[in-house]
Amino acid sequence: MAKDTPMARINIIARSCGFQHKKLPITYLGAPLFSGCPSLLIFENLLVKIRQKVVGWRSKLLSQGGRLVLIRHVLSSMPIYLLSAMHFPTSIIKDSERIFSDFFWGDSNGKKRRKWIAWESICCPCSEGGLNIRSVTNVMKSFRIKQAWAIFTSDSLWARFMILKYVKSTHLSQVQFHTGCSNLWWHILKVFPFIFDNSCWVIGRGEVDLLFDNWLGSGTLCSVFPPSQPPVRTVSVQEGFDSDFQVDGISSTMRDFICRNIAVSSIRLRDDPDNFIWKPATDGKFSVKSAYNICRLRRPYQSWWKLIWFKRVPIKISVFSWKLVHSVVSVDSVIQACDVHLASWCHCCEHHQVESLHHLFISGNFARLVWRHFEDVFCIPTRNFNTVSQGWESTVAVA
Ligand SMILES: [Zn+2]
Repeated sequence: MAKDTPMARINIIARSCGFQHKKLPITYLGAPLFSGCPSLLIFENLLVKIRQKVVGWRSKLLSQGGRLVLIRHVLSSMPIYLLSAMHFPTSIIKDSERIFSDFFWGDSNGKKRRKWIAWESICCPCSEGGLNIRSVTNVMKSFRIKQAWAIFTSDSLWARFMILKYVKSTHLSQVQFHTGCSNLWWHILKVFPFIFDNSCWVIGRGEVDLLFDNWLGSGTLCSVFPPSQPPVRTVSVQEGFDSDFQVDGISSTMRDFICRNIAVSSIRLRDDPDNFIWKPATDGKFSVKSAYNICRLRRPYQSWWKLIWFKRVPIKISVFSWKLVHSVVSVDSVIQACDVHLASWCHCCEHHQVESLHHLFISGNFARLVWRHFEDVFCIPTRNFNTVSQGWESTVAVA
């Protein structure tokens, strides 16, 4: 409600809608409503709830695997509801991920333990060396893409309101940010390029814009042939087909380009509505999961990771193996590499050697005995590998 709205009008609106008149910020349906840029205090409540959960679990003797399960299934889910509706300030996201990370790596006598692997690297699928935890930043971005997709496709009250308020009659590809727009709209607008890059129109009646919509499948015509000045009027694909593309603003080069693409993709008009397709999904339908996958950082896929995360392996063993492959198990040589000076000798050999990951798990006397035993049982060639990950690779190769 604007500041100078007369009280009489406020009362009429309150009576008609059944709402109580309150001053912002307020909480409505579990989400804070506010005017302007969100202040950090608005989100503090969420951080308090996450911290309370962690404090409650800290007294329990949880393994790192147990803590991972709680992060994946409880802590990561806590901000989802709010993320779907509003955009968090970066500092709130960092704070929440810091709480997750502190909880995962644990503490000793109230002192935080070293975080051996950056949280960004942990936030990727197990098959890419991560821990299957979703990055809050990318979850939030995928929700903004969902809202942008709704602007493009949905006839919901919210989408119609946003279009009337911010888009009006402008084509969606030409909408610019103006000062005074809401914070949420600004973040939705920022993910529009994701929509343009990952969508196309499957032509039915050809009601979409000839120049500004991606109906050829290879980008919009105006991105291939940027117009020197805005077109005088909008031209639909149907009009283009009807006039053999002899319309204003279409040069002979553009016409050749269109005809070539139409022939290659067999595009023709049909008596169906035009269909907006989300390319990352095989069925063309948008999902937040597929949007998340295009936002996230991809790392090389390794098939042997699935052996570490095999469901019958206790999760604390899987987490230990994961740390071992990343060389972050705190043996003497790893601690020495962190500029901590200490004398080292192993306890697995008669003639003590430096306690390193390679020695303890691959080349030491005890390790060799174990490997030799399983080499015979499972026929895994273990003689030639130098790292644990090479061991997994050779196991996969034999399987
Ligand atoms: Zn040894």
